[in-house]
Amino acid sequence: MNAEIIAVGSELLLGQIANTNAQYISEQLAEAGVNVFFHTSVGDNPARLTQAIEVAQERADLLIFTGGLGPTKDDLTKETIARVLGTSLSMDEEALESIKSYFLKTNREMTPNNEKQALILDGSKSLKNEHGMAPGMLYKKGDTLYMLLPGPPSEMRPMFSKYGIPAILHTLKRKEVISSRVLRFFGIGEAQLETELEDLIDAQTNPTIAPLAGDGEVTLRLTAKHESKEVAASLLDAVEEKILDITGDYFYGYDRDSLVEVGMRVLREKGLTLACAESLTGGLFQSEITSISGASDVLKGGVVCYQDDIKKNVLSVKEHTLEQYTAVSEQTAVELADNVRSLFSSDIGISFTGVAGPEDLDGVKAGTVWVGLSIKGRGTKAFLLNLAGGRNSNRKRTAKYGWHYLLKELS
Ligand code: ATP
Repeated sequence: MNAEIIAVGSELLLGQIANTNAQYISEQLAEAGVNVFFHTSVGDNPARLTQAIEVAQERADLLIFTGGLGPTKDDLTKETIARVLGTSLSMDEEALESIKSYFLKTNREMTPNNEKQALILDGSKSLKNEHGMAPGMLYKKGDTLYMLLPGPPSEMRPMFSKYGIPAILHTLKRKEVISSRVLRFFGIGEAQLETELEDLIDAQTNPTIAPLAGDGEVTLRLTAKHESKEVAASLLDAVEEKILDITGDYFYGYDRDSLVEVGMRVLREKGLTLACAESLTGGLFQSEITSISGASDVLKGGVVCYQDDIKKNVLSVKEHTLEQYTAVSEQTAVELADNVRSLFSSDIGISFTGVAGPEDLDGVKAGTVWVGLSIKGRGTKAFLLNLAGGRNSNRKRTAKYGWHYLLKELS
């Protein structure tokens, strides 16, 4: 089965929104083993939508549409598809009832055009919208399957994963279970990871191993197929073990884990508290920590010590250190980490000092960063980074390296 995703909406073409629906659907289809060969975006225009449908019919046997199922005049997706397929629209009583009860519940008046949302293609199966009003649809004509989904991601995603994917798998009469697992790495580039795992990747069949890089991280998606869920899981376990034997030093988590979440989990489990001295990150490291509920179990607090004055007067970095080694140095990073730890009486002190860029500063290259780490009972260390991104990417990456080194030291 080859799929084409057709996103309908002039906002997409005007650059007002990004086509995240196509990304989500593609990701889900890849996991289900369905090829996606084309993404099409088309405006709210019946003639151009007709053209897009006719082209897609020639090259795909699963056409998935998102958007244009709403109540307004520019929502034309199902009307246009009905015309191209030579069918008509009829009222889906169940969807109409659910729209009526939605208005009753929210105490709002229902206008006649809202009824239009309950119209579905004649002969189609409606897909329940549990997070909005317009139902989705599944329609088969000849060997081609048409799926219509609403535009808002908050409605489309649950509908597609709960009803869309099972319907596609049912059509494919697939008995196999597809299990996938994402392994997350930090501190290693995609090219290096691929080189280290070259033999495993070249030999991949089941599970398959697909690397993906982004935001300073690399992920490997492992996908196994088998009729038994247990066997699929054990195939994944076996290849994961082989991968981690080689590149385990850089591995930090699974699936949707983030470094800060994993780091906070580890600190909480170990009952350790943290204090931070942030220069170039300007509070970013702590801001990410406080986005996690229960952060106060771990984070005692910190200082944004941007100017040398603050490093000296609030965090007691020695004048001699700043003069002899400068603020961007191993010595300053070490003193900041030690002193913030004692100022806040925490188990761990972490510090970030560097040149975010884009310009070099006082002869220090942009992207030069020191991360200091002071751990009670284990001494203090500092790590040098030579980053090559823009200002904000360097700041974000610095915060991630903070967790990377902290996790390594604690493991
Ligand atoms: P509604 O009932 O809200 O009108 P709809 O099915 O008619 O839903 P649209 O009107 O096309 O959908 O889009 C509604 C909103 O959904 C858009 O303003 C946009 O925020 C979001 N959206 C639509 N298409 C996409 C897409 N391809 N990717 C991401 N978001 C989208």
